Amino acid sequence: MTGNKFIILGSSSGLPQAGRACSGYVLKTGENLSLIDCGGGVTSSFLRRGLNPLDVEQVFITHTHPDHVIDLPLFIQLLYLKGRTGPFDMYIPEEFVQPFWTFLTSVYLIEEKLGFKLNLVGYQDEFTFTGEFQLRAIGNKHLQSNGELIEQLGLPNKMQCHSVEIEVDGKKILYSSDIAAYEDVRPHLDGKDLVVLESTHVDLEEFIEHAQTVKVGRFIITHLGTDEEIAAIQAMAAKAGLDNLTTAVDGMEVEL
Ligand SMILES: [Zn+2]
Ligand SMILES: [Zn+2]
Repeated sequence: MTGNKFIILGSSSGLPQAGRACSGYVLKTGENLSLIDCGGGVTSSFLRRGLNPLDVEQVFITHTHPDHVIDLPLFIQLLYLKGRTGPFDMYIPEEFVQPFWTFLTSVYLIEEKLGFKLNLVGYQDEFTFTGEFQLRAIGNKHLQSNGELIEQLGLPNKMQCHSVEIEVDGKKILYSSDIAAYEDVRPHLDGKDLVVLESTHVDLEEFIEHAQTVKVGRFIITHLGTDEEIAAIQAMAAKAGLDNLTTAVDGMEVEL
C-alpha cells in the first residue's frame, strides 16, 4: 500500500449539476497533493474532503473552459488566507497565462500581496512534469470546433486542451479531461491501471465495445449529466459485462 490516491472532487459535466462540483481531481502522493483542474465548486469540495490546502504542491489545468478553471482564483485566495509562504506552481495552457494574470489583478489577488510566489507556468502539448510522479500532457481536439469563429473574429485563442497521462510508483493513470471524440484517447488506454474518462463527448457504444478489448484496471466515467444519463451509462456497462467500470461520485477515492 503506497498511500497514493486519486480523489474525485468534482464529477459534473459543463452543465452544472446540483449535487456535484464541476471537474476537479486530486492526486495524493504520500502527504503531498496535486490538484488537477479546478472547475466550479471544487474549492468547497476540496475542503469537504478534509484536505489541507497547504498540502497542495501544484496545480495542473487541462483547458480553460469554466467547468475546469473557474474556481482557480478562489483556490488562490484560499492559499493566501491560509497563509501559504512557499512558492506555488500552476501549470496552465500557455494561452491562458497573460489573461489569467490580468484577471487575478482585477479581482485584487495582486501578486505582490499574496505573500507567496505564484508561478504561472504556461505549457503546450507533450509537456512533461517530473517530480514525485510523471505527468504528460497529450493534446486533443476538444476546443477545435471554435476554430472558425476564432479566425473570423481574429481572437488570440490557441484552443489548447490536454488529456493527461500520469505515472506514479509504477501505476499508470489516464485522465481524458474533455475530448472532441473517443478517438482522441483511444490509443492511450491500454495498460492503464486507472482511466478517468469524460462521458459528454464520447460515443458510449464505441467506448464500451473498445473497453472490452483493452487491458485497463478500472474505468471511472465522469463529467456527468443527469441521473437518467448516468443510469443509461451504468446499464450499458452492465449489459456488456464491464465490471471494472463505475460512474464517478464527488468524494470518491481510488487507492493507487
Ligand atoms: Zn468540461
Ligand atoms: Zn471543455
